[in-house]
Amino acid sequence: MTELQENGVLAIAQKLIEQHVLCDKCLGRQFGWLGTNTTNDDRGHSLKLTLCMSADAQLKSGEKELASNAIKLLASNGMFSPAKMIAEKNNIDYEKQDACYLCTIDDESVFARIPLIAERVIGLAKDIEFETFLVGSIPLPLLAERQDELSAIHSIMHAETLKSHFNRELGIQLHDLLQKHVDFDKPDVVFVYSMESDELKVQINPVFIYGRYRKLVRGIPQSRWDCKKCRGRGCDECNGTGRKYQDSISEYVGIPTQGIVDGSRFKFHAAGREDIDVLMLGDGRPFVIEITEPRVRTPDLNEITKSINKEAEGKIEVHKLVLTDRHQLQKLKEDASTNVKEYEAAIATDSPVTNKQLKQVEKAFKGVVIEQRTPQRVAHRRSDLIRKKVIHEIRFEKHNNGLLRATFKVQGGTYIKELISGDEGRTTPSISEKLGTGCKCEELNVTAIYSVGSQ
Ligand SMILES: [Zn+2]
Ligand SMILES: [Zn+2]
Repeated sequence: MTELQENGVLAIAQKLIEQHVLCDKCLGRQFGWLGTNTTNDDRGHSLKLTLCMSADAQLKSGEKELASNAIKLLASNGMFSPAKMIAEKNNIDYEKQDACYLCTIDDESVFARIPLIAERVIGLAKDIEFETFLVGSIPLPLLAERQDELSAIHSIMHAETLKSHFNRELGIQLHDLLQKHVDFDKPDVVFVYSMESDELKVQINPVFIYGRYRKLVRGIPQSRWDCKKCRGRGCDECNGTGRKYQDSISEYVGIPTQGIVDGSRFKFHAAGREDIDVLMLGDGRPFVIEITEPRVRTPDLNEITKSINKEAEGKIEVHKLVLTDRHQLQKLKEDASTNVKEYEAAIATDSPVTNKQLKQVEKAFKGVVIEQRTPQRVAHRRSDLIRKKVIHEIRFEKHNNGLLRATFKVQGGTYIKELISGDEGRTTPSISEKLGTGCKCEELNVTAIYSVGSQ
């Protein structure tokens, strides 16, 4: 016993209740990282019970004064019922206490609020679809300070914080009531309770839907493009619309999706982008649509597909929608500049070229690395540097309208228009350079994007 009494668990417990009124939960929490498969409530109760039994033994062996003091303490500061009963039986007076030093807010233990908070969570969660949740709380600063102070004074090494104890207890109740799982990594929803203001908030994590879009009409930007002059407010130049382009792929995809999952905002992410005047054909370009605060998490993806395609009236088309996550979104972004893309282009040449010349150029671009300095036309929004890109293959065909038809298989992020024209020497080698005549891209379509991240 001597070792225990000096600086052991029991000795610290004794010192703590000598100084403060502590409920079972808060006393037990001081040793929350000790022992396993138990609760702080049980830890606190067991410590008090041990102290109480040892006092009772003293009492029974005749050490009345020492024993009465111990019983008195457990009955008042410990608020411990067995001690209260012994005190009453033996006519030991004690001061009645009911406010635990570490968990009382407005004359009530914050733990006593849990059933009510749980009811409020149920109300808040009523119209939200979710499978997993997490509970968070903002502790009352005064209580957190008191805990820190106690830990310092008594060199308490194994205490759990009030916040984490409270979160767990509320989480256990909610788990039973909601029949949903707690997820610490990526919960669908997080309920956050403020002890000070008694406010309860719900944070709904976004849903991510992966898909591929085809763009079948030229002149549509990928993201919303506001009027430069009025910055979206509306002016003469944009006929009061606030827009430079009236529609965008992002809005064609985002608005119907946001409506169906009942979210508050959307963000459109795509694996690269084509120019406004370029079509996206073939299987389409991979994208992820992120919807903030969705009330529906498992929407009918067919319904979303149909709704998007109907609204877009054949200008764009989406398919292969699947639910995904943030991880897939990162992969989509990382892939954008490394995946392989195929294009077809109509090229005008300043002077006629022969089939022989074309064969030579095809050969010259087989599996080569080209250097592209940031094109003049995008220099205002991209930093000026030289990018190396792999050209896997280029094939030509002469068309009877005098244009060349070319197909390209290249690394993502290659500027095709500049690969054709040379961009005044900024892209090298270029088709123009190899053919020895001025070349201009008249029309461009993306025909395939092979994405590592495709599903
Ligand atoms: Zn307490
Ligand atoms: Zn305007």
